[in-house]
Amino acid sequence: MITTPGAISQRKLKVTGIVQGVGFRPFVYRLARDHHLAGWVCNTSSGVEIQVAGATAAVDSFVRKLSTDAPSLARIDAILQVDAEPWSREGFRILVSKNLAATQALIPADVSTCPDCFREIMDPGDRRYQYPFTNCTNCGPRFTIIRQVPYDRPQTTMAAFALCPECRAEYENPEDRRFHAEPTACPRCGPWVWLEENGAVIEEEPLKAAGRLLREGKIVAVKGLGGFHLAADARNEEALLTLRSRKGRVAKPFAVMVRDLAEAELLGKLGDLERSLLQSPERPIVLAKTRVNSPVSPQVAPGNNYLGLMLPYTPLHLLLFEHAPPALVMTSGNLSEEPLEFTNAGARTRLEALADALLLHNRDIEVPCDDSVVRPVDAAMVMPVRRARGLVPRPVRLPLPTPPVLGVGAEQKNTFCLAWERTALLSQHIGDLDTAETFDYYRQAIRHFAGLCRQEPRVIAHDLHPQYLSTRYAREQEGVRLIGVQHHHAHIAACLAENGRTEKCLGIALDGTGYGPDGTVWGGEILVADLADFSRAGHLAPVRLPGGDAAARDPRRMAAAFLKAAYGEGFAAAADRLDLKFTAFEWQVLRRQLDTGLNSPLTSSAGRLFDAVAAALGVCRVRTYEGQPAVELEMSADPEEEGFYELEPPQGNESLILDTPALFRAVMEDFWSGAGVEKIAARFHNSLVRLLAAVCARVREQNGVELAALAGGVFQNALLFTKLRRRLEELGFEVLFHTQTPPNDGSISLGQVAVAAARLQKEEKN
Ligand SMILES: [Zn+2]
Ligand SMILES: [Zn+2]
Ligand SMILES: [Zn+2]
Repeated sequence: MITTPGAISQRKLKVTGIVQGVGFRPFVYRLARDHHLAGWVCNTSSGVEIQVAGATAAVDSFVRKLSTDAPSLARIDAILQVDAEPWSREGFRILVSKNLAATQALIPADVSTCPDCFREIMDPGDRRYQYPFTNCTNCGPRFTIIRQVPYDRPQTTMAAFALCPECRAEYENPEDRRFHAEPTACPRCGPWVWLEENGAVIEEEPLKAAGRLLREGKIVAVKGLGGFHLAADARNEEALLTLRSRKGRVAKPFAVMVRDLAEAELLGKLGDLERSLLQSPERPIVLAKTRVNSPVSPQVAPGNNYLGLMLPYTPLHLLLFEHAPPALVMTSGNLSEEPLEFTNAGARTRLEALADALLLHNRDIEVPCDDSVVRPVDAAMVMPVRRARGLVPRPVRLPLPTPPVLGVGAEQKNTFCLAWERTALLSQHIGDLDTAETFDYYRQAIRHFAGLCRQEPRVIAHDLHPQYLSTRYAREQEGVRLIGVQHHHAHIAACLAENGRTEKCLGIALDGTGYGPDGTVWGGEILVADLADFSRAGHLAPVRLPGGDAAARDPRRMAAAFLKAAYGEGFAAAADRLDLKFTAFEWQVLRRQLDTGLNSPLTSSAGRLFDAVAAALGVCRVRTYEGQPAVELEMSADPEEEGFYELEPPQGNESLILDTPALFRAVMEDFWSGAGVEKIAARFHNSLVRLLAAVCARVREQNGVELAALAGGVFQNALLFTKLRRRLEELGFEVLFHTQTPPNDGSISLGQVAVAAARLQKEEKN
């Protein structure tokens, strides 16, 4: 090292990004020591502060390596440098955290067990052998145990456990993998597990006993990282039928946790992308094609060609598989529609009727968080379906700066989003806000998030739907400015924002329902939109929604509505031919609704079109979970079929209308002439793609916009998504889509803050 007197620097650095809870301070410590620098490092509520003194060349190299050699879980947004006053400190130290008023410190997400910790828990010679709460600076709980920032042990639910001398020595030793690993623990000083059956603790070793019960076909509630799962043997048909009946979940697919990758290969067809997602530190549920002759019961995912697979992500799960069957259904521990259970007391009261035993532990969960779900679309693209554990609260960078804004989200698949400057933090998946319990949980979660970020937004962006509970929440807040954002505009804005774009695009928003400013129910929209504003360039033809919400729950009603739209007065004969099995009374009411429009608003919903086709073809006539008809229609389509129906190009003055009744008629004619359902389902998809692409081409002729954005829950349909993307690209469009946040209503809150930010910026300029 060169230490000429003239080449000495003292520098103060501020590092922002994901730099807490990821082993950043020990990394800085070791880096400083390797460069022979004196000084200190410290967590603050805005990130990490560092002061270093030493040879200028060494300081420069140190600063460079802060970015290039940072721990894999860290994400550095910026390093600010200023010269510091000379000081006389010897050596390099880690100082106690500072508590500043404003915080930009980003909270780390939970991380699955790392290979080093895995080795320790499997090594009979290690003091953490078989210990279910083993973790280190590279892995373990984070977001789910943090009460306050900065992220230090006393501010987490681990505060209840005093470190034993051995753990303390590791925690204080910069050479150790557990140096400042806030949730570190061992069998001597950390949390423990036990098993309760009928309110009594079982004497047997708890993981062994839980494994035995699972092998016997019992249902065990397992307290994990972000809440409870209900676990059952995925090969045991009877156990799964019991679980379905207790949970009131008829057909919605269950996720499966498998012992290891080899077991996953037996169940699902895995490519390189699926394998790497399964093994990633985030450990999401990965949707993979089910293998023919998969050993799991068809009750895992009836009517679905895909299986939600995940690998164990905590030592507790890993150790459970030493005793349990190799594939376990692991479904959220809750009654249908209620929030995820995450406390021992809550599990004892509310999961007792669902589970035969409770596998509990005494590390409290501060923030409940479901498993994340991702769907690989092709070899290069992953679509998030649910963003929660492992991904939240990873920020999304906004393409424009904003004052603090809260986006309160939609009604279903709710998330909310807190944004300031260029940072947007989406909450974990909250669920559907239609129960009092979920709405309470939503309010608490907003408070907790705002506390962690130390932001008090004075602007709230909300959906236009006056009945959404999220809208009601927004209106109850005092002293804030409200900005209303149309639902499908929010979808498109979210897609633009997560792609870092602000310019005008052709937004294709396809989903179930959203409040339309014209008093109809929107859901199949082609918008010309930027972040601030939009116009409706095209939409699916409006048809009746007979009985309102009842039509969304019963796909047969939508089949009848489309028959009426397609055949006019001849629709009753057509319905007879389909044998939709309405009772005489139901049919009488339905006819009146379709004839008079009574309690039957008009809708351009794409989701309802899929419902109608699925019901008419007999693919799905009873909907037991949201999106089921569309899922089963996609699954039934022959992916090789390229045929389509010749339809009139979209017409219209103010906006172009896609003639979906004509599309429906073509589907019916094909069906009645004896074509196979697999072919028809595929031709339906292909024809819809052509109609949508035709609208885009027409709009481009008028305004020259060549950027397209695809958003809305219907795009979880990979067949529709890939075909439309391909067609638009063939036509020369640049196509944006969701890869960081879900295309469904889980990203509405992001869209809301992006629109608010753009409108506020526009106001400022005027
Ligand atoms: Zn570890
Ligand atoms: Zn210990
Ligand atoms: Zn939506």
